[in-house]
Amino acid sequence: MKADPFAQLKLLDIAEIDARVLRLRHALKNLPETAEITALQGERKKVDDTGIDARTRRDDLAAAQAKAEKDVEAVRLRRGKEQQRIDAGQVTNPKDLERLQVELATIDRRIAVLEDEELEVMEQLEAATATAAEIDARVAGIDERIAERSAARATRAAATEAELAEASEERGPAIEGMPQDLLALYDRIREQSGIGAAELRARQCGGCRLTVDPAELGRIRAALVADVVRHDECGVILVRTAESGL
Ligand SMILES: [Zn+2]
Repeated sequence: MKADPFAQLKLLDIAEIDARVLRLRHALKNLPETAEITALQGERKKVDDTGIDARTRRDDLAAAQAKAEKDVEAVRLRRGKEQQRIDAGQVTNPKDLERLQVELATIDRRIAVLEDEELEVMEQLEAATATAAEIDARVAGIDERIAERSAARATRAAATEAELAEASEERGPAIEGMPQDLLALYDRIREQSGIGAAELRARQCGGCRLTVDPAELGRIRAALVADVVRHDECGVILVRTAESGL
């Protein structure tokens, strides 16, 4: 293929824009915050899972405490009724009175035991509540970091998208007036290997960074300036400039 040397030179500008677009698209797909957020979400799940046990224990103990309270209350009520009977002088028989006194003493002991139990449950409940609250606070802390990283990701994505739009807009004017066959060849190579054209600079291919071997250099040297030459190794269109070292 033959093409105006100036058009060949312009391929380098187009290649620069296309490389930028490729890099920005890649950056958009691989925003560093995404990996950070994924890691934080994993950490959040782990911490939150330890909270399931803590919260269940707290709720169980709260139920146990409520029950203990009710038990004490019920026994106290019974004691109050017996005491009332005595106070009202309803029990006159000395033997009955004695039996009642013994029963009251038994109830008092029962109340003391129940109160001890209630106290123990309350202490456990306090500890379990603190543990659950600590885990909840850790989860909330991670949520805050996730929100902060999400905001940072959105900011970076927006900036990258703006750069991408800018680069894409530059492509139109850059390809204006380019020979269709040269551009079609360039695009085909670019779609296959990512780079369509590169400068031959100091005998090195700007596409694959390999030094062009002497035999091929000889062929390039012998080619006309209008000839479109490609690197045998990687296939890109080699654009010759004053710096090519030919
Ligand atoms: Zn190459």
